[in-house]
Amino acid sequence: MKVSDIKYERADLEKLKADLEKLAEELTAASSAEEQYRLVMKSVALSSDMQTAGALGEIRFLLNTEDEFYAKEHDYYDEFGPLVIGAGHKFTKAVLDTKFPELHKMLPEIMVANARIAQRTYDDSIAELLKQENAAVTEYSKLMASMTAEFDGKTLPVSMLEKFKASGDRSTRKAAWEAHGKAMEASGDKIDEIFDRMVKIRTEAARRLGHENFIALGYDRRERNCYNAADVKAFRENVLKDIVPLVAKLKASAAQKLGIDKIKLYDNETWFSAGEPAPEGSVEQIFDAAKKMYKEMSPSTGEFMDIMLEAEAFDVLPRKGKWGGGMMSYLINYKQPFILANFNGTAADVDVLTHEVGHAYAAYLNRGVVFPELMLGGMETAEVHSMAMEFFAWDWTDGFFGKRANDYRLKHLCESLHFIPYGTIVDYFQHIVYENPDMTPAERNAVWLELEREYRPYLSFEETTYFEKGTVWQIKQHIFELPFYHIDYCLAQSIALQFLDILQKDRKNAWDKYIKFVSYGGTLPFTGILAEAGLRSPFDTGALSSIAATAEKLLKKL
Ligand code: ZN
Repeated sequence: MKVSDIKYERADLEKLKADLEKLAEELTAASSAEEQYRLVMKSVALSSDMQTAGALGEIRFLLNTEDEFYAKEHDYYDEFGPLVIGAGHKFTKAVLDTKFPELHKMLPEIMVANARIAQRTYDDSIAELLKQENAAVTEYSKLMASMTAEFDGKTLPVSMLEKFKASGDRSTRKAAWEAHGKAMEASGDKIDEIFDRMVKIRTEAARRLGHENFIALGYDRRERNCYNAADVKAFRENVLKDIVPLVAKLKASAAQKLGIDKIKLYDNETWFSAGEPAPEGSVEQIFDAAKKMYKEMSPSTGEFMDIMLEAEAFDVLPRKGKWGGGMMSYLINYKQPFILANFNGTAADVDVLTHEVGHAYAAYLNRGVVFPELMLGGMETAEVHSMAMEFFAWDWTDGFFGKRANDYRLKHLCESLHFIPYGTIVDYFQHIVYENPDMTPAERNAVWLELEREYRPYLSFEETTYFEKGTVWQIKQHIFELPFYHIDYCLAQSIALQFLDILQKDRKNAWDKYIKFVSYGGTLPFTGILAEAGLRSPFDTGALSSIAATAEKLLKKL
C-alpha cells in the first residue's frame, strides 16, 4: 500500500483519555495477573491507534503546512496531547501498583523499569513548576525562531546564515558568524534571564521530588535505565584521553590544507579549500545508487528498500509550504516507515539515504515487536542504527560522489570525530550548571570557556563578536529545551565509530554485530544490547582507544 493511499482518521484524544482512565480502574479491580495482562495489551492497541493517526496527520501536515485540514489536525494533537499523557501516567501507575506481582514478570523487564523511572519524574506538587518551565522553553524557542541578523545589507532570519557559515570563502564565513554574534548579543541578557529562570525552576522541581539538584531528575526524564552521572564522567575521561588529541591533530592538518594558522570558530566546519564534496547526478541517479547499494549490502536491506519504494515512502524534494527539515516517521499499524527530507544538492542529501534510512531499516527489522515503545530504544541506542549505517555505506560512496568520494569519507570521519568533544562540552556544561544553580551568567560563560580550552584546545574564539565571551552555548537549543540530551549523540557516535573500526578488520563480523544490535530494538537497556552484540561499552576505561587508533590510520589513508 502506498503511504499516500492510507486513509486518515483523527484519533479522538478525549475518548482515548477516558478509555485509558477506565482501563486503569479495571486493572486495579482485576482478579488475576492474566486479566491485567489483557488490559495492558488493550492499552497498547489504543495507543498504537493514536500514534498511527497522529503520525500520519503530522506527516501530511509537514508535507504541506499550508494545507488547512492537516494544519488543524496538527493543532488538535498539540492541544489535546497532554490530556493523554496524564491518563497514560495513571494507567502506568496502576500497572506498577498491581496486587499481582506476577504481572511484572509477564511484561518485559525493561518496560517495568522504564515505567518506574517515568513515575519518578512527576508528582502533583511540581505541576505548576512544569507549566512555568514549559513557558520558559516556549519563550526561548520563540525568541530564537524570530531572531534576525543583518548580513550583506539585508535583514535575514538567523537560520539563513547557515549556508554562508559553510562557505568555502573565509571572509564570508567570518562575516556570517559576526552577523550571528551581533544578533545574539542584542538578546543576550534576555537569554541569560530565561536560562537562569529555567535552572531555578528545574532545581526547585528536583528538590520537591527529593533530589539535591536537577541532574538525577534530568537523567530520569531521559529514561536513563543503565548509566548514571558517574558513567558519563568515565566517558568524558575517555574522550579527553583518546578523542581530543586525535581531533587536535586532524584540525592541525585541516588548517594546513586551508592555508590558515589557527582554526577560528568560523573555520571549525570547513575541511576543504576546494569546497565541500557534493553528490553527482540527478535525484533519480542518487536513488538508483542508493537502491544498488542496499541491494548489494544484504538481501534484507534490498528487500526493505524495495518495500519503501513501492510504498512511495520517501518525499525528498523541497516544495513551497513543505517543512524544511528531515526525519523518519513510523506508522505502527501499517508497519510502515516514512522518510521526509529536502534535497538541496549537498552531501546532506546522501546522508538522508544512509542516516534516516538506517532508522527506517531498524523500524522495519523490528516491525514484529509486541510493545511498540520497545521498538527502537532510547536515543543513544536508536542513533547507533542510523550513524553506523552511514559507515556501512562507505563502500558505495563512489556511486554518489564520483571523484570526490574520498573527500566525502574524509569529511564524514572528521565530522564524526570532532562532534564528540563538542557534544561532551554541551553535556558537561549542564552538569556544572545544575550542580551550581546560583551561578551568575558571567560565571556560566567562564565555565564554558574553560571547557572549550580542555576539550577543544585547537579552537580559537578570537575576533568573533559576542561568542568570544563564552556564550556559544546560548545557540544550542537542546541546553534549553531537552536538558542532558546531547550526550546520547556522543555515545551513539562512539558506537558507530566502533562499527567502523570492526569494518576495517572484518566486514561480515561488523554486519552481523550490527544486525544483532539493531534487532534488539529497545528490548534491553543500551549497555545490555552492547554486551549481547559483543561491543564495548563507551563507559569502560580506555573504550575509545582502538577507535582512535583506527581512525588515525584511516585519516592518513583517505
Ligand atoms: Zn537520527
